[in-house]
Order: sequence, then structure tokens, then C-alpha cells
Amino acid sequence: MKITIKKGGNYSMTTGPYNETEKRFVENNLQLTNRELSLKLGRSKSSVKCFLDRQRFRRNKEQISQIRSRLASNQIGENNPNWRGGISKDNYHYKKLQIERYPKRIKARETVRQAIRSGTIVRGECSVCGIDEKIEAHHPDYSSPLTVEWLCRKHHRELHNIENETIMINF
Ligand SMILES: [Zn+2]
Ligand SMILES: [Zn+2]
Repeated sequence: MKITIKKGGNYSMTTGPYNETEKRFVENNLQLTNRELSLKLGRSKSSVKCFLDRQRFRRNKEQISQIRSRLASNQIGENNPNWRGGISKDNYHYKKLQIERYPKRIKARETVRQAIRSGTIVRGECSVCGIDEKIEAHHPDYSSPLTVEWLCRKHHRELHNIENETIMINF
């Protein structure tokens, strides 16, 4: 089965309980990230995460290190020299541009910062690798600022890079 995923997402998604084949597939492929699993299964990433939690599937050290080294050699995220065209995040012009381009994003992030400060929400661990350092909030929808997915910096960047591409997967 071939699934094409485009930014904005015009693709069919499977919902409902996982069947045995899917369950076995997940169990035997924990060296894949939640995102990769979700792409392979044609299910949403939050559905994969819930499933892993429910089944108490945890990645072992070996699987996490496999994910890490794969991410590193794939030249994605911060390892990619083209990332953000080499513009520093702290650059004043970059910040200004971001505010002009993505007012909703900036507002959503500010809402999250305040919610964390006030204790309304608590930072979780990365939903891809389970690490609990440098965790950022990813917004599937900026108009629901408190609906977030927690991701480490690297996987957050990776996710946005992937979303900007068309991905072909052979199932
Ligand atoms: Zn994000
Ligand atoms: Zn991570």
C-alpha cells in the first residue's frame, strides 16, 4: 500500500481499535518513531501514542539509540545545514519575521508558557523518544493553544521538516 502525505493532509486515516496485525507490527517495530509508525499504519500520531501507552509498549535503550542514530545520519533537524536557511533563532530579524508570519503560533506558544508557569499544564516527555530534556510544545492546531504534543527539540524540528515535504511510504 502506498500512502502519500502532503502538507495540509489529504489522506485517509484509519481509526478504531488496532487489529492483531497492527499490534504485532507496532510491537516488532519500536525502533521506529511514533511518527513513522503512524505513517506506516495510516493512523494519527496521537492514536499511536495512546496505543503504546495502553499496551505499555516502551522503547528499550537499543531502540532509542537506533532512532537517534538514524535521525542523525538522515541530516534532519538541526543537523541539516539547510535548516531555516542557517538563520539563527535568536536573530532579531528572524523573530520579527516569525511574529509577522505566524501570529497564531506566537500567541499559542505564549499561552502554553503561561499555562506551564501557572501549573495548568505540565511538560511531558518527548512522544517520539521519551526523553525529558528540552521539551517543546507542538501545536497540531494553533487555534487550540492548550492542545499540545510534547516533543524534544530535535523531534519537534524533525516533525516540521517532514510536514513540509511530500513523503512516499511503501507499506
Ligand atoms: Zn510544532
Ligand atoms: Zn525526542
